[in-house]
Amino acid sequence: MFRFRVLGSGSDGNATLVEAGGARVLLDAGLGPRQLAERLASAEVDPASLDAILVSHEHGDHARGASAFSRKWGVPVAGSRGTLAAAGLVSERLPPLALVEPGTTLAFARLTVRAVAVPHDAARPLAFVLAAAGATFGHATDIGHLARPLVEALRGCDAILLESNYDPVLLRDGPYPWSLKERILGPRGHLSNGDVARLVEKGLGAECRQIVLAHLSRRNNHPELALQAAEEALSRAGRRGVRLTVANASGSDWITVRPVRSGGARDSERQMRLF
Ligand SMILES: [Zn+2]
Ligand SMILES: [Zn+2]
Repeated sequence: MFRFRVLGSGSDGNATLVEAGGARVLLDAGLGPRQLAERLASAEVDPASLDAILVSHEHGDHARGASAFSRKWGVPVAGSRGTLAAAGLVSERLPPLALVEPGTTLAFARLTVRAVAVPHDAARPLAFVLAAAGATFGHATDIGHLARPLVEALRGCDAILLESNYDPVLLRDGPYPWSLKERILGPRGHLSNGDVARLVEKGLGAECRQIVLAHLSRRNNHPELALQAAEEALSRAGRRGVRLTVANASGSDWITVRPVRSGGARDSERQMRLF
């Protein structure tokens, strides 16, 4: 079985637990080590049983707890060279580190994790595509724009967790200083609800049956607005049977990823051949 569980989402801290193919990994550790351990306990997961912490990039809401958690529970950290250096994770006191660069894959038992480059104002930020037991899950937050390698990587996924950070009107009229607004809106900032709608309408693979909207800004977004934008996009695309949810700041229940079984090539592969 392939399942995942959001442990935290948004600027207060991001972390997602994935259990598949005989392995358990944490995607980001943006909560303090104690809070991470508590949220793992409520998922009935022993922190020491994790195979790795994969850090997408060095920003505090993704990397804050990685070092202390890694040391306390003996769990190795994996990330790009740029991320590990910028997050101060290169230390002899940590369990051995694993490097993963865009286009490369790590394996933990029968779970594979492929790294995909994303545009964001960090040293070497990554999205992750995880696969096991015939199911594929794409995990992508903190993305300035829908760059082609990311869209292509997400297209074949059975489930995706995708940032839907802001509503442009709320951001424009909100309290942030203009320089910060510009950064969020910029090509290395964050995805808006409209960006997500565009991906859902035009870029989603036929396999995708599960979308989790994550990393919503508390000030510049509302769950209803994010859901509405994605729901409308699904209906414009004539897509039915896609489960759409928003991850709370405090996380979610377990979500099971079921692969679409088909005899021939996957629909996304057929679609790709048309281009
Ligand atoms: Zn973030
Ligand atoms: Zn970030």
